[in-house]
Amino acid sequence: MEEKFIKRLEERIDAEGRVLGEDILKVDSFLNHQVDPELMQAMGDEFAHYFADMGITKVLTVESSGIAPALMASLSLSVPMVFARKHKSLTLTDNLYTATVYSFTKQTENTISISKSFLSADDKVLIIDDFLANGQAVNGLLDICEAAGATVGGVGVVIEKRFQRGHQFIVERHIPLLALASIASFDNGHVVFSHEKEQINVQ
Ligand code: 5GP
Repeated sequence: MEEKFIKRLEERIDAEGRVLGEDILKVDSFLNHQVDPELMQAMGDEFAHYFADMGITKVLTVESSGIAPALMASLSLSVPMVFARKHKSLTLTDNLYTATVYSFTKQTENTISISKSFLSADDKVLIIDDFLANGQAVNGLLDICEAAGATVGGVGVVIEKRFQRGHQFIVERHIPLLALASIASFDNGHVVFSHEKEQINVQ
């Protein structure tokens, strides 16, 4: 990853991020509510560059905050992007792949779904999300890929919180992971970044 980009993203998080409680970072001014398209494009390029040789055919995410970075990554990779829809409950699931995801921020269970028309065994998927906390959202998308017979080429997240379980969960499954910003801890409302390189190399 480009040093210049890492610095740019960390500076934005420092300047505009707000730590809520023990373990939530609010970045509503560029990622989760208002979206900075230029920063998003740079993120997309970083993801695309890192996973360029993996033969990715589709970028997958979950609505809504994953859509902006996923779209920019898919544009940069020249492949389609599909976002899983969230529903409280589903009755008609015939043409859908579904998975249950516990939402970290909302503390509710959602069913996420992707139409069978848009994911198949021929696909090699790059999963993108805004945050990686305990890995529930990524796990739901992994379940859906497995049900479709699709291969997962990697996971890219804008911000990972290393002190939660998601990072380890993905690494243990030997799935290549790229986090554009990695947070080691929150200290008195301040973000402490981790620069540990523990990502699995893309072959
Ligand atoms: P996980 O499924 O990995 O436990 O949590 C990831 C999902 O929860 C992301 O899709 C994101 O929307 C939300 N999330 C988790 N932690 C944070 C956080 O610190 N800030 C924000 N804004 N969203 C978070």
